Amino acid sequence: MLNDGENIMVILSSPSGVGKTTISKKIEQKYQSFKISVSHTTRAPRSNEIDGVDYHFISNEKFEQLIKEKKFYEYAKIFENYYGTLKKNVDETIKKNDLLFDIDWQGTKQLSKFKNLKLIKIYLITDSKEELKSRLIKRNQNSKAEVEKRFNSFDEDIKHWNDYDYIIINKNLESCFKQIESIILSNKNKLSISSLATQ
Ligand code: 5GP
Repeated sequence: MLNDGENIMVILSSPSGVGKTTISKKIEQKYQSFKISVSHTTRAPRSNEIDGVDYHFISNEKFEQLIKEKKFYEYAKIFENYYGTLKKNVDETIKKNDLLFDIDWQGTKQLSKFKNLKLIKIYLITDSKEELKSRLIKRNQNSKAEVEKRFNSFDEDIKHWNDYDYIIINKNLESCFKQIESIILSNKNKLSISSLATQ
Protein backbone atom coordinates (compact mmCIF):
# COMPACT_ATOMS: atom_id res chain seq x y z
CA MET A 1 0.00 0.00 0.00
CA LEU A 2 1.34 3.41 -0.93
CA ASN A 3 0.68 6.69 0.89
CA ASP A 4 3.35 9.13 -0.22
CA GLY A 5 1.26 12.33 -0.03
CA GLU A 6 0.37 14.40 3.01
CA ASN A 7 -2.87 12.62 3.77
CA ILE A 8 -3.28 10.64 6.96
CA MET A 9 -5.09 7.43 7.79
CA VAL A 10 -6.97 7.21 11.07
CA ILE A 11 -8.29 3.97 12.53
CA LEU A 12 -11.08 4.24 15.06
CA SER A 13 -11.82 0.97 16.84
CA SER A 14 -13.97 0.15 19.85
CA PRO A 15 -16.17 -2.56 21.28
CA SER A 16 -19.61 -2.54 19.67
CA GLY A 17 -21.88 0.25 20.92
CA VAL A 18 -19.25 2.67 22.27
CA GLY A 19 -20.09 5.34 19.69
CA LYS A 20 -17.41 5.22 17.00
CA THR A 21 -19.81 5.41 14.05
CA THR A 22 -21.35 8.63 15.43
CA ILE A 23 -17.90 10.13 15.99
CA SER A 24 -16.62 9.07 12.54
CA LYS A 25 -19.61 10.73 10.91
CA LYS A 26 -19.04 13.92 12.93
CA ILE A 27 -15.41 14.06 11.77
CA GLU A 28 -16.38 13.55 8.13
CA GLN A 29 -19.03 16.29 8.41
CA LYS A 30 -16.70 18.83 10.04
CA TYR A 31 -13.56 18.17 7.96
CA GLN A 32 -14.02 18.17 4.20
CA SER A 33 -10.65 16.48 3.76
CA PHE A 34 -11.83 13.34 5.60
CA LYS A 35 -13.62 10.43 3.98
CA ILE A 36 -14.84 7.36 5.85
CA SER A 37 -13.62 4.16 4.24
CA VAL A 38 -16.79 2.29 3.19
CA SER A 39 -16.25 -1.40 3.96
CA HIS A 40 -17.69 -4.46 2.28
CA THR A 41 -19.73 -6.78 4.47
CA THR A 42 -21.89 -9.88 4.31
CA ARG A 43 -24.03 -8.62 7.24
CA ALA A 44 -27.63 -7.74 6.40
CA PRO A 45 -28.32 -3.99 6.24
CA ARG A 46 -30.09 -2.37 9.21
CA SER A 47 -33.23 -0.40 8.49
CA ASN A 48 -31.37 2.93 8.60
CA GLU A 49 -28.41 1.84 6.45
CA ILE A 50 -27.84 2.62 2.78
CA ASP A 51 -25.91 0.37 0.41
CA GLY A 52 -22.76 2.14 -0.82
CA VAL A 53 -22.93 4.72 1.98
CA ASP A 54 -22.75 2.79 5.26
CA TYR A 55 -21.38 -0.42 3.74
CA HIS A 56 -21.23 -2.22 0.43
CA PHE A 57 -23.53 -5.13 1.25
CA ILE A 58 -22.51 -8.26 -0.65
CA SER A 59 -23.11 -12.01 -0.52
CA ASN A 60 -20.88 -14.54 1.20
CA GLU A 61 -19.92 -16.03 -2.18
CA LYS A 62 -18.90 -12.65 -3.57
CA PHE A 63 -16.88 -11.83 -0.44
CA GLU A 64 -15.02 -15.16 -0.58
CA GLN A 65 -14.30 -14.60 -4.26
CA LEU A 66 -12.80 -11.17 -3.44
CA ILE A 67 -10.63 -12.82 -0.74
CA LYS A 68 -9.37 -15.37 -3.29
CA GLU A 69 -8.57 -12.58 -5.72
CA LYS A 70 -6.62 -10.78 -2.95
CA LYS A 71 -8.71 -7.62 -3.33
CA PHE A 72 -8.68 -6.70 0.37
CA TYR A 73 -6.03 -4.85 2.39
CA GLU A 74 -7.64 -6.39 5.43
CA TYR A 75 -10.70 -8.41 6.33
CA ALA A 76 -12.11 -10.22 9.34
CA LYS A 77 -14.97 -12.44 10.40
CA ILE A 78 -16.89 -10.65 13.17
CA PHE A 79 -20.14 -11.93 14.72
CA GLU A 80 -20.25 -14.59 11.93
CA ASN A 81 -20.11 -12.03 9.11
CA TYR A 82 -17.25 -10.91 6.92
CA TYR A 83 -16.09 -7.27 6.93
CA GLY A 84 -13.27 -5.96 4.75
CA THR A 85 -11.49 -2.96 3.23
CA LEU A 86 -11.06 -3.10 -0.52
CA LYS A 87 -7.60 -2.10 -1.85
CA LYS A 88 -9.08 -0.22 -4.81
CA ASN A 89 -11.23 2.06 -2.60
CA VAL A 90 -8.32 2.98 -0.33
CA ASP A 91 -5.85 3.59 -3.17
CA GLU A 92 -8.26 5.92 -4.97
CA THR A 93 -9.37 7.90 -1.90
CA ILE A 94 -5.99 8.43 -0.22
CA LYS A 95 -4.65 10.35 -3.23
CA LYS A 96 -7.05 13.22 -2.49
CA ASN A 97 -8.36 12.70 1.06
CA ASP A 98 -7.57 11.75 4.60
CA LEU A 99 -9.11 8.40 5.40
CA LEU A 100 -11.00 7.24 8.46
CA PHE A 101 -11.34 3.50 9.07
CA ASP A 102 -14.08 2.21 11.36
CA ILE A 103 -12.63 -1.29 11.71
CA ASP A 104 -11.95 -3.81 14.49
CA TRP A 105 -8.68 -4.91 16.15
CA GLN A 106 -8.12 -7.73 13.63
CA GLY A 107 -8.21 -5.29 10.72
CA THR A 108 -5.99 -2.87 12.67
CA LYS A 109 -3.34 -5.58 13.07
CA GLN A 110 -3.42 -6.28 9.33
CA LEU A 111 -3.13 -2.59 8.31
CA SER A 112 -0.32 -2.08 10.85
CA LYS A 113 1.87 -4.44 8.80
CA PHE A 114 2.06 -1.87 6.01
CA LYS A 115 4.91 0.53 6.68
CA ASN A 116 5.07 4.32 5.99
CA LEU A 117 1.31 4.73 6.10
CA LYS A 118 0.93 7.77 8.42
CA LEU A 119 -1.49 5.59 10.34
CA ILE A 120 -2.98 6.87 13.60
CA LYS A 121 -4.66 4.19 15.67
CA ILE A 122 -7.29 5.30 18.18
CA TYR A 123 -9.19 3.00 20.54
CA LEU A 124 -12.42 4.19 22.04
CA ILE A 125 -13.64 2.64 25.24
CA THR A 126 -16.47 3.09 27.72
CA ASP A 127 -15.89 3.21 31.47
CA SER A 128 -19.20 1.49 32.16
CA LYS A 129 -20.28 -1.90 30.84
CA GLU A 130 -23.82 -1.28 32.12
CA GLU A 131 -24.03 1.93 30.12
CA LEU A 132 -22.76 0.02 27.06
CA LYS A 133 -25.44 -2.62 27.44
CA SER A 134 -28.22 -0.08 27.71
CA ARG A 135 -26.83 1.74 24.65
CA LEU A 136 -26.77 -1.51 22.63
CA ILE A 137 -30.38 -2.19 23.62
CA LYS A 138 -31.50 1.40 22.97
CA ARG A 139 -29.89 1.34 19.54
CA ASN A 140 -32.56 -1.21 18.73
CA GLN A 141 -30.88 -2.25 15.49
CA ASN A 142 -30.06 -5.77 16.60
CA SER A 143 -32.10 -8.72 17.89
CA LYS A 144 -31.79 -9.67 21.59
CA ALA A 145 -29.38 -12.47 20.66
CA GLU A 146 -27.28 -10.02 18.61
CA VAL A 147 -27.13 -7.59 21.54
CA GLU A 148 -25.91 -10.40 23.83
CA LYS A 149 -23.28 -11.49 21.29
CA ARG A 150 -21.98 -7.93 20.91
CA PHE A 151 -21.99 -7.31 24.65
CA ASN A 152 -20.15 -10.57 25.33
CA SER A 153 -17.41 -9.72 22.82
CA PHE A 154 -16.43 -6.70 24.96
CA ASP A 155 -13.88 -8.57 27.13
CA GLU A 156 -12.12 -10.11 24.12
CA ASP A 157 -12.11 -6.81 22.26
CA ILE A 158 -10.50 -4.69 24.99
CA LYS A 159 -7.58 -7.15 25.30
CA HIS A 160 -6.21 -5.48 22.17
CA TRP A 161 -6.04 -1.89 23.50
CA ASN A 162 -2.25 -2.07 23.50
CA ASP A 163 -2.11 -2.22 19.69
CA TYR A 164 -3.31 1.41 19.53
CA ASP A 165 -1.53 4.78 19.74
CA TYR A 166 -4.28 6.52 21.73
CA ILE A 167 -6.98 5.31 24.13
CA ILE A 168 -9.99 7.59 24.61
CA ILE A 169 -12.67 7.05 27.25
CA ASN A 170 -16.08 7.96 25.93
CA LYS A 171 -17.86 9.42 28.97
CA ASN A 172 -19.35 12.23 26.98
CA LEU A 173 -19.64 12.28 23.20
CA GLU A 174 -18.71 15.94 22.78
CA SER A 175 -15.53 15.82 24.88
CA CYS A 176 -14.56 12.53 23.25
CA PHE A 177 -14.99 14.11 19.82
CA LYS A 178 -12.82 17.09 20.86
CA GLN A 179 -10.02 14.78 22.03
CA ILE A 180 -10.05 12.84 18.77
CA GLU A 181 -10.15 16.09 16.83
CA SER A 182 -7.06 17.41 18.59
CA ILE A 183 -5.17 14.13 18.00
CA ILE A 184 -5.97 14.32 14.31
CA LEU A 185 -5.07 18.00 13.97
CA SER A 186 -1.79 17.67 15.80
CA ASN A 187 -0.79 14.71 13.59
CA LYS A 188 -1.76 16.65 10.45
CA ASN A 189 0.34 19.60 11.68
CA LYS A 190 3.34 17.35 12.36
CA LEU A 191 3.13 16.07 8.83
CA SER A 192 2.92 19.55 7.30
CA ILE A 193 5.91 20.73 9.34
CA SER A 194 8.01 17.72 8.38
CA SER A 195 7.21 18.21 4.69
CA LEU A 196 8.12 21.95 5.04
CA ALA A 197 11.44 20.95 6.56
CA THR A 198 12.28 18.72 3.60
CA GLN A 199 11.44 21.38 0.96
P1 5GP B 1 -21.37 -3.37 12.73
O1 5GP B 1 -21.96 -4.69 12.33
O2 5GP B 1 -21.84 -2.95 14.11
O3 5GP B 1 -21.56 -2.30 11.70
O4 5GP B 1 -19.80 -3.57 12.85
C1 5GP B 1 -19.26 -4.60 13.63
C2 5GP B 1 -17.76 -4.42 13.77
O5 5GP B 1 -17.14 -4.56 12.48
C3 5GP B 1 -17.35 -3.03 14.26
O6 5GP B 1 -16.39 -3.21 15.29
C4 5GP B 1 -16.72 -2.37 13.05
O7 5GP B 1 -15.69 -1.47 13.42
C5 5GP B 1 -16.12 -3.57 12.36
N1 5GP B 1 -15.85 -3.35 10.94
C6 5GP B 1 -16.60 -2.65 10.05
N2 5GP B 1 -16.02 -2.66 8.84
C7 5GP B 1 -14.87 -3.37 8.95
C8 5GP B 1 -13.84 -3.73 8.04
O8 5GP B 1 -13.82 -3.41 6.85
N3 5GP B 1 -12.83 -4.49 8.54
C9 5GP B 1 -12.78 -4.89 9.85
N4 5GP B 1 -11.72 -5.62 10.23
N5 5GP B 1 -13.73 -4.56 10.73
C10 5GP B 1 -14.78 -3.81 10.29
